[in-house]
Amino acid sequence: MSPITDIMSLTLGELKDFAESIGEKPFRAAQIFKWLHQKRAGDFDAMTDLPLQLRERLKAEFSFGHIKPVKILTSASDGTVKLLFELCDGNHVETVLMRYEHGDSLCVSTQAGCKMGCRFCASTIAGFKRNLEPCEILGQLYETERATGRKVSSIVLMGIGEPLDNFDNVVKFLQILSTPEGTDMSLRHVSLSTCGLVDRIYDLAALDLGLTLSISLHSPYDKKRSELMPINNRYHIPELMKACRDYFGRTGRRISFEYALIEGENDSYDDAKALVGLMKGMPAHINVIPVNKIKERSYRSDRGSAQRFCRLLCSLGANATVRRTLGADINAACGQLRREYEEN
Ligand code: SAH
Repeated sequence: MSPITDIMSLTLGELKDFAESIGEKPFRAAQIFKWLHQKRAGDFDAMTDLPLQLRERLKAEFSFGHIKPVKILTSASDGTVKLLFELCDGNHVETVLMRYEHGDSLCVSTQAGCKMGCRFCASTIAGFKRNLEPCEILGQLYETERATGRKVSSIVLMGIGEPLDNFDNVVKFLQILSTPEGTDMSLRHVSLSTCGLVDRIYDLAALDLGLTLSISLHSPYDKKRSELMPINNRYHIPELMKACRDYFGRTGRRISFEYALIEGENDSYDDAKALVGLMKGMPAHINVIPVNKIKERSYRSDRGSAQRFCRLLCSLGANATVRRTLGADINAACGQLRREYEEN
């Protein structure tokens, strides 16, 4: 085990292996894990029921990095909070806390920057910096709860980055998040959004973690989708839909499709018809989102158009809703705050 591993990135199983390797009893691992992920200790010295010698050993063996919020914006209209975090190496990521009737939901980032190049997305414009470690994805949850005093009841992996492009760290994050000796969040309360890395969708289905899969679709036609989302040149829509059916077949979980409506690009009657056609024979939900304006692109739409398109989808037999717009007054669309901050 590398001496610079952040202790918060270890699963309980890995902590047990470590405890065993230094001749400690396995119960010590659970004790440490609880300090980290339940009591959210800020450092090793806070772990007062561990023998001093063990605490010293942990200090020598592991780092205990912290991500820190450098900007916190709270929406005056709906209680949405957007946080900009600085990572240990000076990179930045964004996290958004949203208030819903069923509780607070947190949108977390999984990479600093993104390689996927979706045309309408602010997170990918300056390219990719690096993958986030499990501790940095968890840190967004812990530091948001600490800073706001609110309790997060569900998580969406829909912030900066492509979660399936950081597969191992994301899976480890999910394992740590759902461990009973830690935060103990049921993965039924977690959604993972992907632009469609088909091979990884199969890998995820095989793990059957119980989370909801969201697919960023944005067009039912390969030609248009490839224009909007370069990943579509690698995995065409029929392949992607096959992977979605397989995911449903293996996990029994309904798939959610994200559809950012863009005027003149993907908002015609034919688009709606073809989109509904793709969903045939699979329980699916379509989330229509008025595309968020970013200053680098001229894509636009509005709520009225999204509502009309959504009604059209429903009249054609689909299960569709319009995503609520939250945090409009604080630029809550993903990637914009980070870009502004890093540009300045
Ligand atoms: N890489 C993953 C998750 C991050 S993006 C994915 O592609 O799903 C989260 C969601 O926001 C995706 O559905 C993405 O297509 C959408 N998105 C990005 N920029 C947007 C914008 N300007 N307006 C509306 N939705 C946007």
